[in-house]
Amino acid sequence: MTSERVYIALGSNVGDRAAHLAHARARLNALPRTRVIATSRVEETTPIGPVAQGPYLNQMVLVETSLSPEELLAQCRKIEAERGRERRERWGPRTLDLDIVRYGSRTIREPNLTIPHPELPHRDFWRREIAELEAVSLA
Ligand code: AMP
Repeated sequence: MTSERVYIALGSNVGDRAAHLAHARARLNALPRTRVIATSRVEETTPIGPVAQGPYLNQMVLVETSLSPEELLAQCRKIEAERGRERRERWGPRTLDLDIVRYGSRTIREPNLTIPHPELPHRDFWRREIAELEAVSLA
């Protein structure tokens, strides 16, 4: 069983944001063949895009997993759904969002999955959080 290091970005801007992030961390750590190795600081960020909404709490989680990218994506969708995520509006508010930002060194271009995540070049806070985790996990 070979496992890969995967960066997953958590985001929430509705309800008890810290509790939603905590739920995601606990659920990721409890997935089969998966464990959370390190977590970044939680950061508050201004919403991106055209929809007026409250600020987000964001956090990057480094996991080691032997789930495939598709299996992991399905699990992430499930974890979002547990917090009542509705996806009516593309850039709209969300109780809990999980994005697979990097999966080892893989490049994936499928209709439902792009890795590295296409927003990575545009989100300074993701890159900052990844740098923080790289420093921790190399220590
Ligand atoms: P979002 O509204 O940001 O949660 O986007 C949801 C959809 O983006 C999912 O149903 C995925 O199929 C798709 N998607 C494509 N690439 C990724 C990725 N790297 N991580 C998470 N979702 C992705």
